[in-house]
Amino acid sequence: MTTSTTRRPLLRIRNLSVDYGFGDDAVHAVDGVDLDIGRGEVVGLAGESGSGKSTLAYAVTRLLREPGVIVGGEATYFEWPEGTDGGDETSGAQPVPVEVDLLSSDRSVIHRVRWSQIAVVFQSALHSLNPVLRVGTLIDDVLQAHEPSMGPKRRRARAAELLDLVGISADRLRSYPHELSGGMRQRVMIALALALRPRLLVMDEPTTALDVVIQREILTELMDLRSRLGFSVLFITHDLSLLIEIADTIAVMYAGRLVEKAPARALFHAPRHPYTYGLTHSFPSLHGPHRTMAGIEGSPPDLRRVPSGCPFHPRCAWALDICATQRPPDLELGGSPAARRVQCWLHEGEHHAPAELAAPTPAPLAASTNGGASTRTAGATVHSGGAS
Ligand code: SF4
Repeated sequence: MTTSTTRRPLLRIRNLSVDYGFGDDAVHAVDGVDLDIGRGEVVGLAGESGSGKSTLAYAVTRLLREPGVIVGGEATYFEWPEGTDGGDETSGAQPVPVEVDLLSSDRSVIHRVRWSQIAVVFQSALHSLNPVLRVGTLIDDVLQAHEPSMGPKRRRARAAELLDLVGISADRLRSYPHELSGGMRQRVMIALALALRPRLLVMDEPTTALDVVIQREILTELMDLRSRLGFSVLFITHDLSLLIEIADTIAVMYAGRLVEKAPARALFHAPRHPYTYGLTHSFPSLHGPHRTMAGIEGSPPDLRRVPSGCPFHPRCAWALDICATQRPPDLELGGSPAARRVQCWLHEGEHHAPAELAAPTPAPLAASTNGGASTRTAGATVHSGGAS
């Protein structure tokens, strides 16, 4: 497994901040977030509703709607030469990527890379697919717009190939979205997103509306496609248990801030942030001894009036005096800068983390295709006040 430290970069986000509205009533939805995604990496972005995870994704893909406004930061996409997929920094020749400023005021920049390099799969397929167009026409429209040199015959063949890729018969090219099941519609969304062979798939709660069986089928197929095609994934969800199984790396957001980021297995078995600890102890394991579950006291803050210092301090069992007044630093833990990060005073200098937040980091699973935890979990859904 290529680790996050040796992957070539694909997306780099620095100090990104997004508000909704202006002035005193502005909602600070994303507040100074740094995030990296490597080539071929699956990064899970977890957090409860309103934590800023979707806003972050829509900001970097420039799909943010008014009154959302990017008030600071950078987002750089690394466009690698064709035929350099799959390599890490230790392999052979070193290709040089083109750095694309996704936040450029020149909209042609984002128009060039969106869909062809970075594609988005939205949550509700029923609302995202044009109800009066057949599936074949939907795919054909994309190919016609972005691949003008492709003739009708090749477009038809490509449309059938895309449906086949996601496990749907080519007969369905003639179907309207309402004639498909929820799972099939979501597969069509994935097929559409893959139409131009993007290098990064941004998936915003793509399976939330589906039952768990269909959800699992689609995720298994998605991971298989990822292995075959080599794209990276930014997977946004409030369902932490999904990420533990599919992600290489998990980032946790709270009140617009990215409070912890770590390899999936490390985050699950040895969390460093009290909020992550609360989440991972809010749902039962299907294996191992019974344990007492405890939700997280309190509710997420109103983003128009985020608590001073650490926004989690009113709910934190380990809060220090400094937590109420000073914003915690963004700390790199564990030697390797890319390995894990946490925003918490408990891990800084003179302070001491409690034993619960200092468990040894588990070694990566050698045979794993991702960094996922081996422990299966039941319904780890992040909601206000904890997880259920
Ligand atoms: Fe708790 Fe303080 Fe850490 Fe925030 S910075 S999570 S309040 S200990």
